[in-house]
Amino acid sequence: MKYILGALGFAALAYLGLLALANFDALDDGARYLHAAATYAVAPAQPLDARGAFGFCEQFAELDNAARARFIADFLDARGIAYQRLPIDGSGFDNFFVPFAAAGPFTIFSAHYDKFFDDAAYQGASDNAAAVCMLLVVADELRKIKLARPTALLFTGQEESGLGGAKAFYEYATQNNTRVAEVINFDSLGRGGLAARASSERSGLVFTLPLVGEFVYDGRQALKASPYSQPDAALLARLRRVEPITVFDRMTANSDGTFFQANGWNAVNISSDDMYYLERTWHTYADRIELLSQDNLERALKLVIQYARQER
Ligand SMILES: [Zn+2]
Repeated sequence: MKYILGALGFAALAYLGLLALANFDALDDGARYLHAAATYAVAPAQPLDARGAFGFCEQFAELDNAARARFIADFLDARGIAYQRLPIDGSGFDNFFVPFAAAGPFTIFSAHYDKFFDDAAYQGASDNAAAVCMLLVVADELRKIKLARPTALLFTGQEESGLGGAKAFYEYATQNNTRVAEVINFDSLGRGGLAARASSERSGLVFTLPLVGEFVYDGRQALKASPYSQPDAALLARLRRVEPITVFDRMTANSDGTFFQANGWNAVNISSDDMYYLERTWHTYADRIELLSQDNLERALKLVIQYARQER
């Protein structure tokens, strides 16, 4: 009996050891999540400045998807910024492609403008009004400055319906010989710093149970993990020269960048690095404009502008 218990104890210890080894990559991601949970406050450190560059976002977050598309068109029209409206097959919605050069290969900064629940009570402020507002401010800046490389913005629709906008744009670009160097896709900004996420069809923290398999925990349930891939190291290094970016190699994201990367484009999904905030608000009615923090949007804005100006 004693030997059996001893053997069991040894097996349990060995398994714990394997568990730690198999999840070594996930430990820093998990520790960051716990830190964010321990220090979380509902009110942001720096609420959006209503009279600042992102002040219009309060109005934008309230709009339904059709009105958001109109808002983007009006914003660009009012500033004389040229764009292409590209229909997303069968959806009644369009992508907005905003090139700042005659030809590629383009560095594209993208964000989806559609929200998960298309009703007035749901704002989707973090997902994804914040990134759209940030890129609209970028549009206004890029038209005034000289760019070191072909740069474009892309506002997609139908992201929340199976990445429909990303698929439509990929097909358009492929068929029309619009060359794409890289895509930096913003989804779920709002708090703290910026994070680059591993790309997967399922969002969450990936963990391994040795001898059992890989699972992904999205804050609500643990499911069998889908394959996930890391962003290109050289692209990450270029972005991190401009602005600090936390790398979450086990905190996966499913967004437009996921489709682009899976289809061979050099793409990365960037979100807030406060995973606790994202978990609490993601696809819930708590995802509201008053929870956004000004400094997070400013970081993203700085990243895009500086990166667009930088020589390769
Ligand atoms: Zn989103």
